[in-house]
Amino acid sequence: MSVKVCKFGGTSMADGNVINGVKKIIDADARRKYVVVSAPGKRYSGDTKVTDLLYACHKELVEKGSCKNGFAAVRARFNSLVKELNIPFEINALLDETEAAIDSERSEDFTASRGEYLCARIVAEVLGATFIDAKDVIFFNEDGSLNGEKSYKAISFAVSGAERAVIPGFYGKGYDGKVKTFSRGGSDISGSIIARAVNATVYENWTDVSGFLACDPRIVESPVKMKTISYKELRELSYMGANVLHSDSIFPLRKANIPIQIKNTFRPQDAGTSIVPSAKYTPSGNLVTGVAGKKNFTVIFIEKSHMNAEVGFMCKVLSVLVEEEISIEHIPSGIDTMSLVVESNDLSKEKLETVIEKIKSAVAPDVIRVIEDIALIATVGHGMSSSVGTSARLFNAIAAADINIKMIDQGSSELNIIVGVRNDDYEKCIRAIYSEFFK
Ligand code: ASP
Repeated sequence: MSVKVCKFGGTSMADGNVINGVKKIIDADARRKYVVVSAPGKRYSGDTKVTDLLYACHKELVEKGSCKNGFAAVRARFNSLVKELNIPFEINALLDETEAAIDSERSEDFTASRGEYLCARIVAEVLGATFIDAKDVIFFNEDGSLNGEKSYKAISFAVSGAERAVIPGFYGKGYDGKVKTFSRGGSDISGSIIARAVNATVYENWTDVSGFLACDPRIVESPVKMKTISYKELRELSYMGANVLHSDSIFPLRKANIPIQIKNTFRPQDAGTSIVPSAKYTPSGNLVTGVAGKKNFTVIFIEKSHMNAEVGFMCKVLSVLVEEEISIEHIPSGIDTMSLVVESNDLSKEKLETVIEKIKSAVAPDVIRVIEDIALIATVGHGMSSSVGTSARLFNAIAAADINIKMIDQGSSELNIIVGVRNDDYEKCIRAIYSEFFK
C-alpha cells in the first residue's frame, strides 16, 4: 500500500492557525499516515524559535540553578498555540511535568528536545492520531551514529497498530539511555528514518518554500526553481549551505530509493522539488543544477619540492589534524603542493599556530602559508561532467567579474566544481556564476 511520511518544519508549526492548515493538508490525502514534527519556529521575523528558547533555558539552568524565567517564555508560547487551536488539551499540566523533568535531567539535549516532544503531543491530539515518542524508536550507537537496524525495527513495530501516528523529530535515545538530539535542523533526518522504516512511497518534507532554488534568493533575485534534483546534488548543495533540508537526510533513504518531495505548507498547490535517487534521475538539460556556498574557511597551503615522491607525506600532514581533532573539508593538491581547507570556526588562533608548528616539524615544507577569510562556492550539476567547456565558462565568468580565485577543487564525483574566493567576493561570485549558466 502506498504510504507517505510527512515532516513539518518549525514554520509549519509556528501557531495554531498554521497547524490547522497542516491538518487540512494531512486530511486531504489518506496516504499521509505518519507525521514528524519540528518544534514551533518563528511566527514573524525577529521572533524566537522554541528550540532557541529551550537552549536558553538550559543555559539559565546551568548558570542559576533554575530556568524559571526562560521556561516562562516556552510556557507562554505553547499556551497561546493551544488557545488558537481551541482544543481541550491540558497543556499546563504537561508543561509542569516538562519543567520538572528539565530540572531533574539537567541535560542540554533533553531540554532542547522538549519543543518537538510538546509539539508532537499537541499535533497528535489535533489529528486524533497515536503519539509515538522518538526516544522509544530512534536509537544511537555508542559513537553517536544512528543505529539504523534497531530503529527501523522499533518504528515498524510501533506504527503497526496505528492508523495515523505523530512522532517528534530531532531526537532519539542515546547509547546511555538518555535523550540525544541530532544536529540543528535534525527533524529532517528523523523524517527520513521514519520513511525508511515504513518503506514509504515518498517522504514529503513540508517547509515554507516551494522547493529548492538554483541559488540563494538573498543574493540573486527570483532564481530558477529546481523541479527535480538527484540525491547526490542535494547532498552537495545542502552541505554547501542551501538550507532547505538537512544534508544528512538522504542517508537513511538511499538504500531503499525513497524519493523526497519538498512542499510548501503555505502554498500546498505548488509542485515543489522532487529529490530522486541518482539512478532514477534524468538531467533536465541544464548543465548546472544549482550554485551554493559558505563563507569563513581557512586554507593552509603547503609546498615542498618532490612532495609527490615522498612516501607518507600526506599521511604525516593529515595525522597532525587528527591529533588536533580538526576536520578537513577539502584537500586540493598538486605535484608539489597541497592545501587543507578547514572551517575557520574549528580553528582558534592558538590551534592554528600549533597545527603549523606540528606540520613544519612533521614534513619540513619549503613553504607553509595560511589564507584566511575564504568563501567556498560549489557549482553543482550532473550535466557538467559530460559537457566540454563547462569549467572554462565557469572560470571565464568569474574572471570577467574581476574576482581572484584562491583555490579550485573539482570533486571526484565530477558533479561539482568548488572555487575558493575571498569572503568579500562571495556574493559577486555567486551572481557571476548564476548569470553565466541560468540567464
Ligand atoms: N527544532 C530543531 C532546530 O531548531 C530541529 C529542527 O527543527 O529540525 O534545530
